[in-house]
Order: sequence, then structure tokens, then C-alpha cells
Amino acid sequence: MELVNDRYLLSGGVDLLELVEEFGSPLYVYDTAVIKRQFDRIQSAFSVPRLGIHYACKALTNLNILRYLEHLGAGLDTVSIQEVRLGLAAGFAPDRIIYTPNCVSIEEIEMAVELGVKINIDNISILEQFGHHYPQVPVCLRINPHILAGGNAKISVGHIDSKFGISFHQMPHILKVLEATGLRIEGVHMHTGSDILDTEIFLQAAEILFNAANNFPDLDYLDFGSGFRVPYQEGGIATDIEDFGQQFSDRFKQFCEEYGKELELIFEPGKFLVSEAGYFLVRTNVVKTTPSTLFAGIDSGLNHLIRPMFYNAYHQITNISRPGGKPRIYTVVGYICETDTFGINRKISEIQEGDILCLRNAGAYCFSMSSNYNSRFRPAEVLVHEGKACLIRRRETMEDLLRNQVEVDLFASVSGK
Ligand SMILES: *Cc1c(COP(=O)(O)O)cnc(C)c1O
Repeated sequence: MELVNDRYLLSGGVDLLELVEEFGSPLYVYDTAVIKRQFDRIQSAFSVPRLGIHYACKALTNLNILRYLEHLGAGLDTVSIQEVRLGLAAGFAPDRIIYTPNCVSIEEIEMAVELGVKINIDNISILEQFGHHYPQVPVCLRINPHILAGGNAKISVGHIDSKFGISFHQMPHILKVLEATGLRIEGVHMHTGSDILDTEIFLQAAEILFNAANNFPDLDYLDFGSGFRVPYQEGGIATDIEDFGQQFSDRFKQFCEEYGKELELIFEPGKFLVSEAGYFLVRTNVVKTTPSTLFAGIDSGLNHLIRPMFYNAYHQITNISRPGGKPRIYTVVGYICETDTFGINRKISEIQEGDILCLRNAGAYCFSMSSNYNSRFRPAEVLVHEGKACLIRRRETMEDLLRNQVEVDLFASVSGK
């Protein structure tokens, strides 16, 4: 977003405040121009003959976002059968969807096979069962390289105690299962967690995956998951994707030469593609001064955006109603009966009740992690595309809250009335 003549604008000159006037608050807004910029950056960062960018759709699952990414040429990374179905509904070809579940039932995996998508297996028990049922269906193996590459303990999934993937130390066991079942391995995968801090560490983990890959003669692709980091604060650390892409492409091409086949290089970015494309607009309900703190209380809470409370995530907050106002120090809090703090001691231009605040980086893991806690409605979503704003999800209503509730008459037979 940029500030032009005291108005905050998205691509194509769309005015954020006008969106709140038209669609109400709280409101999620996504800008396709930012998604495209990020997609193009990854695509041009890697110079390999076969590159697959599979959008990790758990970050943001609105069908229109999925369709837009499919149109750009992305594949899809899914972690549940419902995400697989959303991907198919959005128009992804089944063979462009990878299903990477963790601790799901064999029945759910069988449903994914029926739908024709690529299967990624992350434990030996399921590998055995799968091999007995479907020896003719090639699969991908999720390998755990035991490398800690996450910015936060909750989103680091490669370490030794992690529940994800098959340990690379278990290779002999994997090979026995393959021999017994005749199953073919078409890909190997790793995903070490969100937020790569360090290209070096990622390259080390990749070496472990290359080693694992050498055990399988019929591979078609190597999938290195994600972990691309985007800046959340001004000057915040971000993955230097251009530098990383250069180094990684060289190493990958060298591996393919040794392996003797041009493999597809796959990444599964979620956050990198959609985080910065999202804006969460909220209204200030109250400004409250206590002896120690100046609070701004907004018409939202951890029910709509839980990342600050769940991951200690930082989301920049701007008062878009009063650009250029005198800055004061605020703690921005939600309206839920929990401590739901969005930001502590933030310098924000003076807030008056009714002002609209904008939380940045609201594209990834924001709406998709929202809930109805405190029986609040989930917000509407709007997509900004080529200068136009379209509603892509209606705000919930009382009917949505009641839809699946079943009222029974507990007292009819007892009272006999
Ligand atoms: C969540 C997830 C991703 C995406 O991670 P980001 O940090 O959003 O890029 C990729 N692959 C798998 C298997 C995941 O579970």
C-alpha cells in the first residue's frame, strides 16, 4: 500500500478506506498484484529447466486466490482431503496437486488416490499399508533431515523430536518396505518449517535430501518444501530469494547431472506468495487510558487473527484514517474475553474512536486460522484485481452460527406435558 494525497491506496489506485465504507469492518483485503510480484520473483530466482511452484494453500484457501495462482502457473500443496477438493474445485489438474498429510487415516489417503493427486507419505506404517493396497501407485516420501530451520519453535518441523516426516536414519527400513511391496518412489520431499533464517542451513538440509534421493532410481521430482521468509516489520529479515535461487539452482543442476536425469525442482511457498498481499482492516471501538497504558480496542480479536497471540507474530499497524497525525504510543487489543493483544507500545498516528486501523501481512495464516470464538462472525474477504474490488466471501451471519446446531427437546418425555 502507498500513501498518495493522504489516502492509502492498493494497486490500481484502490482506496482502503473506501473498501471499509463499501464492505464494512472488520475486513480482509487481498491484492493480486502483490501475489503476482512474489510469484514472478520465485520464478525468476531459480534457473532450472523444470521448476514447480506449489502454493501451500493452508495459508489462504479462498477459491479465487487458488484460481488466481493456478492461472499464474502454480501447482498446489495440500495437507487435508478438504484442501485437495478445494484445489480441484478451483481448477487445478489432479497431477498438479500434492497431498502432504500428517497423521491422517489410511482411508483419507485412499480418497486422495481416488481423486488422482500426488501422494506424499510421511511415516513408515502408512508406507507399508499403502504399498500393500496400491503397489502400482508411485508416491513421494517426506524425509525429515533433522535440521532446525524455523524462526519459532511452533513452526519448526525438521528437528529430531518433530512429528513430521520419516527420519533419514530410517532409510534401511524404507528400502525393506519398498522391496517387500514393489512400491515405486517418484519424489522425495522435505519441509523444515516456516521462516528460513539462513541459506546455509537450508543448503545443509538439502544435502541430506540429495543423499536420500540417491537411494531411489526412478525419481521424477525433488520437493524442498518452504520456509521462505517475508519481512513483517520495516527493515525486517527476509529471504534473499534471488541470491538463494542462484546458489540453489547451481547445486540442484549439479545433483541432476550426477543422478543422470533432469528432475523437477519443486518448492511449496505459502507465506511468501500471499502474506504481504493481505490487509486486515478494523475499526477502533474505544480508546482507553489506564494509569500505565494507552489502549486502542478494535472490533476484532484472536478469533480473526490469532498469529500475534499464537506465534508472537509482529503485524505492522497503521491508522489509515489519520495519516500524518501526531504519533502516540498505543497497545492495540481485541474485543474477545481473553488477552488478545495485537501489538504492544506501537507508535501510531493519534487514534480517535471510529478510526480504521490496518494490520499488514494479513494474507497468510490469518483468515485461514480464524474461528467463531465468542460467537463472533468471521469477516468478509475482498479481492483487489486490476483496479477493481470484488467481494470474495460474505461476512457471516447468525444463520451461519446456528447452521449445524441441532435443538433437541430434553424435557418433553420427562414432564409428559
Ligand atoms: C505449511 C506448509 C508449507 C508452507 O509454509 P510457508 O511458511 O507458508 O511457506 C509448505 N509445505 C508444507 C508441507 C507445509 O505444511
